[in-house]
Amino acid sequence: MKPASFQYFAPTTLDEALALLAEHGDAAKVLAGGQSLTPMMNFRLVSPAILIDLNRIGELAYIRERDGGLAIGAMTRQRQVERDARVAKHAPLVAETMPFVAHPQIRNRGTLGGIFAHADPAAELPAVAIATSTKLKVKSIKRERWVEARDFFTGLFSTVLAPDELLVEIVVPAMPAHTGYAFQEMSRRHGDYALAGVACTLTFDDRGVCQEARIVFLGLGTLPIDARDAAKHIVGATPNAEAIRAASEAIDAEIDPSDDIHASAKFRRHLAKVLTRRALETAVIRGKRNW
Ligand SMILES: Cc1cc2nc3c(=O)[nH]c(=O)nc-3n(C[C@H](O)[C@H](O)[C@H](O)COP(=O)(O)OP(=O)(O)OC[C@H]3O[C@@H](n4cnc5c(N)ncnc54)[C@H](O)[C@@H]3O)c2cc1C
Repeated sequence: MKPASFQYFAPTTLDEALALLAEHGDAAKVLAGGQSLTPMMNFRLVSPAILIDLNRIGELAYIRERDGGLAIGAMTRQRQVERDARVAKHAPLVAETMPFVAHPQIRNRGTLGGIFAHADPAAELPAVAIATSTKLKVKSIKRERWVEARDFFTGLFSTVLAPDELLVEIVVPAMPAHTGYAFQEMSRRHGDYALAGVACTLTFDDRGVCQEARIVFLGLGTLPIDARDAAKHIVGATPNAEAIRAASEAIDAEIDPSDDIHASAKFRRHLAKVLTRRALETAVIRGKRNW
């Protein structure tokens, strides 16, 4: 099917794009990589009267080192993030996760900002962003604000973005010293959306006592799930097999998977436990290298 007709704008600066959004608000949609929006328009799940194409705005595509972490422009292609040596150095959990996002052809066009704005609960990067305390810069013609990744997602395919706002920058802070990290997911074929997945970060002191633990799930509810109660089983000691098992069991109370044609809720619960155990074991090993 073809999309319904729409008026097309191709601004070349951020200010121009924000002015167009301020003028057209609800009637407009922005086009980033088009990997999610174009199929939705073709299926007429969305039919914006106005399409604002961000692809000519060069100032929104960059990767910069900042305060030991990274600032990434919203229009940076996913493939560029995957391949950039600075991402591997300063945001290793992001680098580890990128190959799981869709397929190379999709990553060539898809943007980092598009993943966050689209807010698919099965997307990998939102969970990673929460586990790494990532911040998102949001702009309208009237104001600029910063939103913590954990506050950005409000429900299935929805975010705090107002109709006149753009996501402009993603800031991944420096990973604290003595931090171990891991990403795990299970999908039917590599590159498909995950049936379930988990991102975790464990920060230790120099004696190996875990000071902070983040265990964040994807594909197990309508939002990324930050399993705070389960993480408590890991904090306050050097995590051993018993603590890891206790954390993996405790996630049952925090996730809310559903049945669909790809997997049953029961199978997703089982996957979540297995993936959590594997991710925590890896994060402990990686954290140990720094004690
Ligand atoms: C077969 C297939 C498999 C996929 N598998 C995965 C997967 O495993 N994991 C995964 O994470 N994704 C997956 N995707 C989605 C892919 O990563 C998309 O690239 C991503 O969801 C959207 O990015 P985009 O740049 O293409 O955005 P678009 O499709 O252009 O836009 C998506 C939505 O975000 C809005 N938007 C985009 N950028 C901004 C911005 N800067 N500010 C405000 N709003 C904005 C648009 O208006 C639109 O509503 C898959 C897609 C396909 C087709």
